[in-house]
Amino acid sequence: MKAFGPQGWWPVTPSGGTVPAYTSGVYGQRCGRDIFEICAGAILTQNTAWKNVEKALEGLNGAGLLSPGKLAACPLPRLEKAIRSSGYYKKKARRLKDFCRRALREHPEGFQKWFGAAGTGDLRAELLSYNGVGAETADCMVLYAAGKASFVIDAYTRRIGERAGLGQGLSYEGWKEEFESGLPSDVKMYNEYHALLVRLGKDFCGKTAPLCGNCPVNPVCGKRI
Ligand code: SF4
Repeated sequence: MKAFGPQGWWPVTPSGGTVPAYTSGVYGQRCGRDIFEICAGAILTQNTAWKNVEKALEGLNGAGLLSPGKLAACPLPRLEKAIRSSGYYKKKARRLKDFCRRALREHPEGFQKWFGAAGTGDLRAELLSYNGVGAETADCMVLYAAGKASFVIDAYTRRIGERAGLGQGLSYEGWKEEFESGLPSDVKMYNEYHALLVRLGKDFCGKTAPLCGNCPVNPVCGKRI
């Protein structure tokens, strides 16, 4: 945090805007509109870089489709066109539609009440039962949209964790347990910790040739490279 500052995750589109923006200092449950955008973004970012998701969300915003009802009712070809930049766009369009249809059917109370009322573990388990929602996607939704303490594991976290000597070859749930047992169960802490690990992975601890010399966690890292 000292090296990078607060990361402002998860970026959402400001009122009147069309492109998601990072806002630091926002933790806890988001409003219904933001919850839905975060859920859509978490599905769209599977196997692709965030810059491609930004374009897809811009496409959805521009087409007036960024709401559960509009998206559920949208014909697939139109939806596929709007999110084409996100990669695997045919699969993701179907996942988004399935997600919206089921959420509308099972949670007519809306995303804000649904995500606010559910317990952390129950919400995670329910989201995991949706088509195409895996552990990382569900944890992003629980942490960043619901504002509930569920640590997110991604490729950056695994790589840094293994190089730092925290574990080797652990499963997703194994890594999650490793971080959650070592940190206080705190939404702000989980939010920044995960976002900072991603920043560290992008700026210093790349797949090849990590920049250990200038890395801010150099003094505490096992550097198992
Ligand atoms: S010190 Fe090196 S191996 Fe450790 S996190 Fe930094 S870049 Fe990665």
